[in-house]
Amino acid sequence: MSSERHSGSLSMLFFPLMAPGHILPTLDMAKHFAMRGVKATILTTPANAPLVQPFLARANRSLAAYPMCLRLIPFPSDTGLPEGCENLSSIPFRDRTTLVFKFFNAVSRLREQFDWVLRELLPDYVVTDGYFPWTYDAAAELGIPRLVFHGVSFFSLCLNDSVHRNRLLESHPADAEALVIPGLPHRIEMLRSQLPRSESEEADSKSYGVVVNSFYELEPDYARHYREVVGRRAWHIGPVALCNRDDDADKSARGYDCLRWLDGKSAGSVLYVCFGSMGDFRAAQLRELALGLEACGHPFVWVARSEGGDDEWVPKGGFEERVEGRGLVIRGWAPQILILNHPSVGGFVTHCGWNSILEGVSAGLPLVTWPLFAEQFYNERLIVDVLGIGVSVGVKEYSVKPEERGVVEAETIRKAADEVMGSGDGAQEKRRRARELGEMARRAVEKGGSSYKDMSNLIEELTEKKNAVQAQPQPPLV
Ligand code: UDP
Repeated sequence: MSSERHSGSLSMLFFPLMAPGHILPTLDMAKHFAMRGVKATILTTPANAPLVQPFLARANRSLAAYPMCLRLIPFPSDTGLPEGCENLSSIPFRDRTTLVFKFFNAVSRLREQFDWVLRELLPDYVVTDGYFPWTYDAAAELGIPRLVFHGVSFFSLCLNDSVHRNRLLESHPADAEALVIPGLPHRIEMLRSQLPRSESEEADSKSYGVVVNSFYELEPDYARHYREVVGRRAWHIGPVALCNRDDDADKSARGYDCLRWLDGKSAGSVLYVCFGSMGDFRAAQLRELALGLEACGHPFVWVARSEGGDDEWVPKGGFEERVEGRGLVIRGWAPQILILNHPSVGGFVTHCGWNSILEGVSAGLPLVTWPLFAEQFYNERLIVDVLGIGVSVGVKEYSVKPEERGVVEAETIRKAADEVMGSGDGAQEKRRRARELGEMARRAVEKGGSSYKDMSNLIEELTEKKNAVQAQPQPPLV
């Protein structure tokens, strides 16, 4: 066991919330740091190791300096969660609200294990999830600066700040009353019932800064607003997923039939439909979505998750025969990034999770927005109102529970699909803007691009700070 601080290269410990939407971008982000010579260690729990290990094995084949490492800490027992349920996406659909509460309770009990790992590894910096505010105190006790990773956009961070600063949640959050979020670069209007019920984190403001998976050109007004008005130190380093774009091993390791299916379709003709790692619907909504996709006339790939069997939701009367060859339904996990970047794909129906949005933007695609919960309604406003690359299906209410959501009708879905895939002027303009942003995203992470440079600034600053600290005498560790 080493208790010496590393000299030379920076060492960083990354600790993401256990959910695909947090672990996947954290791995990509850590890979970016490792590609610049940082010793990166990922911390997670045993049931999440299978999600991390193949990524590290692939990444380490191309890393010249230090391999990325994995460190595991046990998930608490007696949590009230099903055995092996150590990831938000593996929480069963039924009784989700109670189980999610238990999950976060269990997560807060990881503090002691986290302390042990810190004392043993003594990284120069930790990059921990916004959902783990307690990691700030644990790291501060050892004099280790903490960077926060929320996995959301600057836009969401700014809206969230305004909502809390102006106490907008304090009066009847369930009301479907329109309100303007004050003090922002654009006029952003939302329904009160769409606002996320998030906490404002005091630990954020005490932390060293925030790393943001976004690029400057996507949301310049909000990148500035967050730094200058909200007043946080922040670095934009995304889209981090683009670090895997030339990774052929990654592609062949996940070679799927659906890519061959897409090969048979014409360029830009296919609509891809996916609601992230936790987006589930009741049967009535799935049926309506099926009918909407059938009516829109475009080929589609639809990642459909439902707890019941297909009998519960597949429309009666020969739906599957009618869409045969035109629609592909994937039940389970889809290779989303590969699908989005296939030349046959021309549009994306998304729940507006930030990773999905960035992946869609990076692929240059227009979006149909269908937010469900978390900060997804904020992202919808960015896509529809600020960037003009999407159209909304009009969901009015934030809801974690599928059974509480109103049903979006087939005709609404058909129309929205047409507004991004069709031949009208509006659709063409959205596609043009989306392609432009896709180009900007790719340039941002290339050498000399805005995200590349901001990451260089960050690494330089962290290295200087480390060297300055090391030049001072160290207090003995107890
Ligand atoms: N994802 C995937 N296949 C799926 C569903 C999701 O690869 O079938 C990936 C997707 O590419 C994204 C992440 O899982 O990187 C989901 O993150 P996001 O922020 O979009 O949504 P969340 O799941 O956190 O709601």
